[in-house]
Amino acid sequence: MSVTTKLKPGVVTGDAYLELLEACREGGYALPAVNVVGTNSINAVLEAAAKNKSDVIIQLSNGGARFFAGEGCPDANAARLLGAVSAAQHVHTVAAAYGVCVVLHTDHADRSLLPWVDAMIDAGEDHKARTGQPLFSSHMIDLSAEPLDANIAECARFLMRMAPLGMSLEIELGVTGGEEDGIGHDIEESADNAHLYTQPEDVLKAWEVLSPLGHVTMAASFGNVHGVYAPGNVKLRPEILKASQDAVAQKFGGGSKPMALVFHGGSGSEKAKITEAVSYGVFKMNIDTDTQFAFAEPVGAYVDANPVAFKHQIDPATGKPQKKLYDPRKWLRAGEKGIVARLNEAFADLGSAGRTLAG
Ligand SMILES: [Zn+2]
Repeated sequence: MSVTTKLKPGVVTGDAYLELLEACREGGYALPAVNVVGTNSINAVLEAAAKNKSDVIIQLSNGGARFFAGEGCPDANAARLLGAVSAAQHVHTVAAAYGVCVVLHTDHADRSLLPWVDAMIDAGEDHKARTGQPLFSSHMIDLSAEPLDANIAECARFLMRMAPLGMSLEIELGVTGGEEDGIGHDIEESADNAHLYTQPEDVLKAWEVLSPLGHVTMAASFGNVHGVYAPGNVKLRPEILKASQDAVAQKFGGGSKPMALVFHGGSGSEKAKITEAVSYGVFKMNIDTDTQFAFAEPVGAYVDANPVAFKHQIDPATGKPQKKLYDPRKWLRAGEKGIVARLNEAFADLGSAGRTLAG
């Protein structure tokens, strides 16, 4: 495989996904993985990727998937599954028209959410039978709060279901600080927070068991936290990623960067630390908090600039209809443009701009 490989635009799974990861490894760049909650955020991510000629990762948390099906859907568990399926189908339908490769992924699933992941894999089997391609490129299982052996054993079970479909599994070792949709871990003030740094021996154990079963990617912890906080006690230490890569390469081979690593909690990170993490084999950096704000800020500015239209259908002072101003396409579009602007920055930071494999 080489970095000049061309892929069909649209959702990539199986071998095409592995080629994309290989291009990231060889080319020393990474892709933003953006959490989405509706067609507005999905379309904004696709627009930004097309504009930057970059491939991209679109992901849903369980809460994002539920929101996609509708907060008013009476059965929350059904909504989590149906929203994930619906969002994935939307991406499968429109992605190729944007001329880039798109990875479809789901975010953190702890033990209580494993039935959700099993149900999505069921849907993936159906989709593969009908179209030749699974619904998602990969799912994440996050059992980092459990003992290592339990974490690895459950991940092995999922990988054995997913590998035959051409799907990849993202696992978490060590814990990401902060919280994502209610799943997370406290950051203790003035503690050493050793639990926020993955131990290389844990990585070796997971790699030994899981890598022969199928394709895995690793969310290793190096002081990264979900959300954006004022600078505090937790320090980003990307050298931990290098230590894990070196340990795996020494014991199992696979070149200098045998593992495809994932950077959770990318929002608000220092640019130099992002560059350093990517140099150690990070291919995916999750962004959620920053794109949420990027959507909200211009919507707020639009409302501030057009206050009458958000209180009256007809301006009581002038008698002028306000329809053209309160049309949701106006302010939702302002939010979409905000996401695009924030992602322009992400594609530049991660070095993926201009490097789409779609041809
Ligand atoms: Zn995360």
